[in-house]
Amino acid sequence: MSRTVFRGGRIFDGTGSAPAEADVSIDDGRIVEIGRGLDGDVDVDCEGKGLVPGLFDCHAHLASRYEDFDEYARMQEPFSLAFFRMAENLRATLALGITTVRDAAGADAGLKMAVEEGTLAGPRIQISVNMLSMTGGHNDAWLPSGVFSVFGVEYPGMPSGVCDGVDGVSAKVREMIRAGADVIKIASSGGFLSPADDPREPNFSQEEVDAIVRTASDLGTWVMSHAHGAEGIKRAVRAGVRSIEHGTFLDEEAAEMMVERRTWLVPTLTAGDTTEALADDTRIQPAVREKLRDLGRPEFSAMQLAADAGINVAMGTDCPVAPHGTNLNELRHMAAHGFTPERALHAATASAAELMGLQDELGTIEPGKRADLVVLDGDPLVFDDYETRIEQVWKDGARVVPFTAPA
Ligand SMILES: [Zn+2]
Repeated sequence: MSRTVFRGGRIFDGTGSAPAEADVSIDDGRIVEIGRGLDGDVDVDCEGKGLVPGLFDCHAHLASRYEDFDEYARMQEPFSLAFFRMAENLRATLALGITTVRDAAGADAGLKMAVEEGTLAGPRIQISVNMLSMTGGHNDAWLPSGVFSVFGVEYPGMPSGVCDGVDGVSAKVREMIRAGADVIKIASSGGFLSPADDPREPNFSQEEVDAIVRTASDLGTWVMSHAHGAEGIKRAVRAGVRSIEHGTFLDEEAAEMMVERRTWLVPTLTAGDTTEALADDTRIQPAVREKLRDLGRPEFSAMQLAADAGINVAMGTDCPVAPHGTNLNELRHMAAHGFTPERALHAATASAAELMGLQDELGTIEPGKRADLVVLDGDPLVFDDYETRIEQVWKDGARVVPFTAPA
């Protein structure tokens, strides 16, 4: 085995200690040692560079693109085209130093496996397959014409997420796990980018959400719940979900409940970057545009409330609601709405690993951890131009960015 040493970089290690200069040696895909003057076979010169753990996006949709919100255009395209385009979504994400993603619906077991076997370059992925939604809820693709939106096309490995009643939702959890889901995604409130539901209203009854969490727990996994309105958040927290996604209209009571139950928040502030553009885009369904018009950025207040209350936060972006490749706006948004840069970067590394149950393998630069490392020009805690300052990305001890041309 050859040992690689990252020499002289300023390290943000994710453990809570202040960034300091040191060498990091890796071997056989793992971090071996951190210190001064380490021995190695190959050197990576990190003088003047920052070194951070591989970043996480705990809420992305790797299977679709921002352009896909033009549903009419999608309807004219071959079904399989979307699959080939996923390769670019993966690369755009990896290029940012994001080496681990929790996919919040749309990625199936085949996409995950294509990355694992090396067919596609991309971050490692935990998949949720499809989002559980009540009839008429956020993931019901039925349109008033009686046809289904392209977002509702089922295929082997991608069952519909629509389900109702305690028995129905339990069976649906089992179906998603059968299809390979690592985590169960549900919508316990309405959403913005769907035609017939109100983001402020709860979706699913308390009994249904309870049954979802219980069934997932029996099968060894947990639940991430899309929730904008306060009642939808509270219902999910009461039921014991692992994380609240978005949390847009978080109130004081919900925040207290989340602190008490140690429920994670994944704020997805980046999604709001396109609210105005989507509201003005005539290719978007009128009912959706209406919901986005004059919405503003209520998620920034929720983030501030979460920061003040001490809720556990992990970074997630909801890309491609804002295009893939803009994910690191999330660091700047978190740092502008309640978090210090340290806390924001922690949310994108150690905290995210904990949310995903990967804290023993990833999230920090410590001996024994997987060697996921990002080399960037300058100070790791200054987020200006972070995207363009990322020079190298390493995943499992192999350099994956800059991309090498296929053989
Ligand atoms: Zn989402």
